[in-house]
Amino acid sequence: QPELSGDFATLMGWADAVRRMKIRANAETPLDARTARKFGAEGIGLCRTEHMFFEADRITAVRRMIVAESVEARKVALAEILPMQRKDFVELFTIMTGLPVTIRLLDPPLHEFLPRTEEDLAEVARVAGVDLGRVRHRTAQLHESNPMLGHRGCRLGISFPEIYEMQARAIFEAVVEVKAATGETVIPEIMIPLAFSKKELDILKAAIVAVAASVEKEKGAKLDYLIGTMIELPRAALRAHELAETAEFFSFGTNDLTQTTFGISRDDAGTFLPDYTRAGILEQDPFVTIDRDGVGELVSLAAERGRKTRPEIKLGICGEHGGDPASIHFCESVGLDYVSCSPYRVPIARLAAAQAALRSEVKAE
Ligand code: PEP
Ligand code: MG
Repeated sequence: QPELSGDFATLMGWADAVRRMKIRANAETPLDARTARKFGAEGIGLCRTEHMFFEADRITAVRRMIVAESVEARKVALAEILPMQRKDFVELFTIMTGLPVTIRLLDPPLHEFLPRTEEDLAEVARVAGVDLGRVRHRTAQLHESNPMLGHRGCRLGISFPEIYEMQARAIFEAVVEVKAATGETVIPEIMIPLAFSKKELDILKAAIVAVAASVEKEKGAKLDYLIGTMIELPRAALRAHELAETAEFFSFGTNDLTQTTFGISRDDAGTFLPDYTRAGILEQDPFVTIDRDGVGELVSLAAERGRKTRPEIKLGICGEHGGDPASIHFCESVGLDYVSCSPYRVPIARLAAAQAALRSEVKAE
């Protein structure tokens, strides 16, 4: 386990004394969360729950859910994942005691869960108790040629509300469990991915609130939580004043926001982006450093519009840019409340946030 000590720890202390923005980490495993904490993270800004679904038994349960012939059958498939998901959150909340934890509801490209081989198809039919024809039909129906622009993020929650209901239940039951075990009150920040409209948020928020009410009743507990959204699509940034009517926080997902603003695939950009920087069309890789003229303007506009509707709205960033010093300077200039980055970048982010705060003070004088 890494630990900061000696001169490095002293330097970090100086940085912390001057910075304004909080530094959180992107973490979903207990190891990442512990590392983040040791490096000085002040919370989790992004827990990507899809990574928790890649274990074989969970993939099987999701596949069963996809081919299920009724809502009840879907719920039965998901009920198998619930205790595992609850345990994930109990672990994270316990490690991050006293600090905020933002949990993003499932956001996988759906194709990663579809059965691929003949063997897969047969196995799903067997465990789901449906015929092979149904499995083939659903798999073909859900196939996409461009999954990163397809059935992912909250679109999945709209099509299969049971997934987000299961996750919300796991989160709330974990809060109750941690309270009983440690006396600590966790206030989870539940984040809805890839939304482009207030209506998506309204539908999904209503479902989450209903689950919270059920858990409160069943457990005789009072739950506090925030529901917010990621801003990862230009339309979300443009409609931020409407999204903020429903969302209590925004987190800028600048990986997708860069992809969708430029129309450049984040997974394939390496094939031609170097030519663009060589030719002087772009000064730097926009997937590394926030492009101030395009993506940055959308961030700034969304922050302004969001604040107009909800002056106290909490604003953060959780794309890879959250660990890039030049982008952190940009985040300070827009007045974000926190940046969230990978655990090993937390010290760099602490330093960059301090430098950015000092620079903005100098400018203001
Ligand atoms: C993003 O899009 O910036 C983000 C943080 O989400 P992900 O990288 O998981 O798509
Ligand atoms: Mg994203």
